[in-house]
Amino acid sequence: MTIKAVRGFKDILPDDSLRWVTAEDVARGIFETCGLKEIRTPILEKTEVFARGIGEHTDIVEKEMYTFTDRNGESVTLRPEATAGIIRAVIEHKLYGKASMLKLFTMGPMFRHERPQKGRLRQFHQINCEYLGSQAPLADAEVIWMAWKVLTSLVTSSELLLQINSLGCPKCRPLHRADLQLCLKNLAPKLCPDCRRRAKSNPLRVFDCKNEECKRILASAPLVKHYLCPECSIHLGKVLDILEAFGVPFVQNPYLVRGLDYYVRTTFEIVSPDLGAQSTVAAGGRYDGLVKALGGPDLPGVGMAIGVERLLLLMDIQECRLETNLFVAALGNEAREEVLPLVKELREEGIVVEMTYEEKGLKAQMKQANRLGASHVLIIGDKEIEEEKAVLRDMKTKEQQEISFKEIIPLLKDLFAGE
Ligand code: ATP
Ligand code: MG
Repeated sequence: MTIKAVRGFKDILPDDSLRWVTAEDVARGIFETCGLKEIRTPILEKTEVFARGIGEHTDIVEKEMYTFTDRNGESVTLRPEATAGIIRAVIEHKLYGKASMLKLFTMGPMFRHERPQKGRLRQFHQINCEYLGSQAPLADAEVIWMAWKVLTSLVTSSELLLQINSLGCPKCRPLHRADLQLCLKNLAPKLCPDCRRRAKSNPLRVFDCKNEECKRILASAPLVKHYLCPECSIHLGKVLDILEAFGVPFVQNPYLVRGLDYYVRTTFEIVSPDLGAQSTVAAGGRYDGLVKALGGPDLPGVGMAIGVERLLLLMDIQECRLETNLFVAALGNEAREEVLPLVKELREEGIVVEMTYEEKGLKAQMKQANRLGASHVLIIGDKEIEEEKAVLRDMKTKEQQEISFKEIIPLLKDLFAGE
């Protein structure tokens, strides 16, 4: 029996990896223009990081984490998201003391034990960014703009919809929570078991339910937007004004809440109807209480996460295969040895060069060059070595020219410049 990958864990195969690199490069480029620096934290953390950082009463902590005791009997967890670990690192290394504001990004695998389906895996990848230390609406807007910019650089923007809401703050949210809980008491018998549980532990999250019947029933429940304090209203208004100035289209969705406990004020999602049930490709918001909850100073924060697998499902770019520029066809043992330094030098010039690893005739080598998509073939046999020149064949036009050994490097450098 052959061994297969674990359910919900997927290989990224060579033909796909270029799309991954493209997405990551685009994100990295955009983050760098906004002055973000990369942070890479461990994939394994003490379970406490997530229990405290995400909140006990969340789907993630209640039922999705890969938690186990290691050989020392310590409870550890494969990270289900990036923010809590990053904040653990920021506090541990006191990064906050060194700059007035920290702007960080990371990308990598996350782990959640969910039911695998299209756009939902047990190991999936995120591109994340976190702004720590600013309460300014500009920080929220910039984070949202970056998510929008990364996605629209890779996907047609008409397929994407940015939804925004405010969840209020510790001042105004309790009033809403009390009214919502009262209302949910009456609605409870009609709601799903998950929502009945949420109604007690974390009522706001009933709005996060994917069940259509619950959504219908909850349409008339009290919304945070009617409870916002003046400060929260002003904050939201300013975020929206800046987004308008940045030219980012959005809609307000008063039902939008986050599954994570620590979010306050701004919350947002970028969705695409093309993704079916797993329609959210990026999500994020403000989490002012989190750094303190994890034992650090009272630093406000705002961040976002892009689901890379969902993004790739939307990317309609052609397979951008890296083509071989040049195939070196060396004929005979002496020629094969003679060309090795040349192959090395051409590669050092950034030219993609291939040759055969076993001795083969010219016909077989030309066939291989074709398969690799080489635009040119450099043919060198015993005769060419004696005369210190080679034959360069253009695979498209089929034209051949003789070039002296000395000319090879400058000519090929010229030929492939800018590719
Ligand atoms: P969902 O409602 O789809 O479960 P979520 O609210 O749990 O998403 P977040 O914790 O906000 O998701 O994660 C941010 C993004 O990461 C999501 O918008 C999505 O694109 C991606 N994501 C989350 N869970 C998965 C998963 N199991 N497989 C693939 N991508 C995921
Ligand atoms: Mg989820």
